[in-house]
This record gives sequence, structure tokens and C-alpha cells, in this order.
Amino acid sequence: RCRLPPGHRLRLQARDGGMFSSPKRARVLVVEDDPMLRETMAILLRRQWEVVTAENIEQAWQHIERHGPPNIILSDISMPGGSGLDLLTRVRADERTRLVPFILVSAVSETETVVKGLEMGANDYVTKPINPPVLQARMTTHLRASELQRRLERQNALLARLAAFDDLTGVYNRRSMDSALEAEVARCIRYHHPLALLLLDLDHFKRVNDTYGHAAGDDVLRRFVQRVTPVLRTTDILCRYGGEEFCVIMPETCQSSASRVAHRIRHLVEEEPFESDGFRIPVTVSIGVACLLPGFAESPDALLEHADLALYEAKSKGRNRVVVCCDGGLQVSN
Ligand code: GH3
Ligand code: MG
Ligand code: MG
Ligand code: MG
Repeated sequence: RCRLPPGHRLRLQARDGGMFSSPKRARVLVVEDDPMLRETMAILLRRQWEVVTAENIEQAWQHIERHGPPNIILSDISMPGGSGLDLLTRVRADERTRLVPFILVSAVSETETVVKGLEMGANDYVTKPINPPVLQARMTTHLRASELQRRLERQNALLARLAAFDDLTGVYNRRSMDSALEAEVARCIRYHHPLALLLLDLDHFKRVNDTYGHAAGDDVLRRFVQRVTPVLRTTDILCRYGGEEFCVIMPETCQSSASRVAHRIRHLVEEEPFESDGFRIPVTVSIGVACLLPGFAESPDALLEHADLALYEAKSKGRNRVVVCCDGGLQVSN
């Protein structure tokens, strides 16, 4: 009954596109209480996949705990000590196994249970007596679909990263900043908590590019981020606002602490030239500081506008300085 037609395995592998070819073959977990059937299935499936067997759902779960989720689960329905549907419930409830394809193996009389199993999240079922080519074809289909889903999830995670972070420096990009700022402003207004914003712009950065080259300019931007990051708290959000401008959203921070941080950054940047390709490049930074204040700057746009005014003032007062925008107006802070 378990003999495969000649060439069957080859055909399956070719259609599989080599997705599970060596070095890593898909691992199949077979859960079946009948020793004969369990062994027959293992022999059949081992031609194509790595097979582990369990005679009840406890053993099956122990295997998962010990060796991690298999690539596919093939489970009998009626077994002493817990049914295939009990195992299915557990598999679907656990974050690690939630997406593992699950095929029920049913007796002809178990139609209702099969329907229930499919409703509970089983991907498919086969009936006993098992038809080997059909079982293998179905398993191949589910393995392929699940591999595609995993790839898609990895790609989505990558895209989410690309969409949120700046390529050059690795900090949040403008898009992330806009949504983070909106969320933080709303939160701080609701709970009457302070919130500060720094806008930082490297001084005469065009000259850095003109003198040392664009690649050196890129190095400076990366090292600037490395130098600023340790000064910040983990709850502060550093973003590249664009070009050579950065922004720090500082939750739970009042004006005086924010200007203290701004001064530290300004000082750290000025203190030591940035290294690139053997050059030591002197850089300074101008910083505008603004705070969320009731009736004054209570929207993300107003906060940004105030920080921008302060930054503009820092530039026009000669650069390499910190200016704070507070309710009395702009203040060069020393
Ligand atoms: P200011 O002190 O007024 O800010 O002068 P600045 O030269 O820094 O300002 P400006 O806005 O005139 O020029 C910004 C420069 O930053 C020009 C642009 O080529 C450079 N820049 C922007 N993004 C990047 C980048 O990703 N890499 C490099 N190397 N340079 C960049
Ligand atoms: Mg059974
Ligand atoms: Mg600049
Ligand atoms: Mg600029």
C-alpha cells in the first residue's frame, strides 16, 4: 500500500523547486498511537523528509519543547491521552508553533471531527487508509505555502525596518519621528507631563563635504550619531530629520534638563574632531530646544516650529550654540 510509483519522489522534488532539498530537510512530526501505522508512515515519509514520531500528544509536545517547532505536523485524531484536536489547540495557541501546517489523519467515520478540526485551524486532512502519493502531494503543498509565508514575514520585517530607520546612521527616520512625536505630544498633554524637543544641525556641513569629500561627510554623520547616543536616555528618541539635521524627542523632560543635554552634545561635538580615512575633521553643531507648554506649544507642529526658530537663532548668532525657545521668547543658553 505504501509503495510509491517509480519516479514519484523525483517529480515531487522537482516541483518543490529545491526549497527543502539538502542541507536542511523539512522536519515532519508524525503523531499516531497505532504502532504499525506510525512506522509505515515514518518509512514512507523518510524518503523525502526528516521524520520524528510520537505516540501521543504529550510526547509530541515534549518533542516540540525540546527540538523546536517542526516544519509540519501530521496527527491522528483519536488517541488515548488526548486527541489530535487537543494537540491542534495547543499548537495554534503557542507563538512558536502557531503557523506550523497541521494535517489531521482521520478514520472515515470522523467527518464531523474533521470539519471541527478545519474550523479550529487545521490546514488539511487525509483519511485512512492513507494514499501515499496524495499524502505526500498535500504535505508538499503545505510545506511550500508555509515556507512562502515565512519568507513573506521576513521580507515584511525587513520592509518595516527600512521604512522606519535611516539607512546611513541607523537611527529613526523622519517618518518614524513624525508618528513618534505625535504620539508623545498626545500622551504628555493627556497626563500633563513635560516633553522636550531638540533640533540639531551640523554647522557649515557643506564645507565638510567640499573639503573632505562626501564619503567623509557620511562618516561624520554616522559618528555624530554614535557620539550623541550615549548622552541620551533610552526613552529619548533620536531621529534623522533630513540631511545633516537631527531631532531628539525627550519624553518626561523639562526645559532645563533638555538644555543641559543639548549643551553636553554641543560640547562633545566641538571637543574632539571626527575621524575619517585618516583625516581629523572639526565639526560643530547648533541646537534649538523647545518644550511642550500649556497654551503655547501644544501641538507637534508648534513644538517643531519653536525648536526650528531656536535653531535659526543659534545659526544667526554665530553657530555652535544652544538656543532655547521658552514662553518669554528665544534665549541663547550658556
Ligand atoms: P549651516 O551651518 O547653515 O547649517 O550650513 P550647512 O552647510 O550645514 O547647511 P546647508 O543646508 O547649506 O548644507 C547642508 C549640507 O549637508 C549640504 C549637503 O550636501 C549635506 N548633506 C546632506 N545630507 C548629506 C548626507 O547624507 N551625506 C553627506 N555627506 N552630506 C550631506
Ligand atoms: Mg488512533
Ligand atoms: Mg547645517
Ligand atoms: Mg541644515
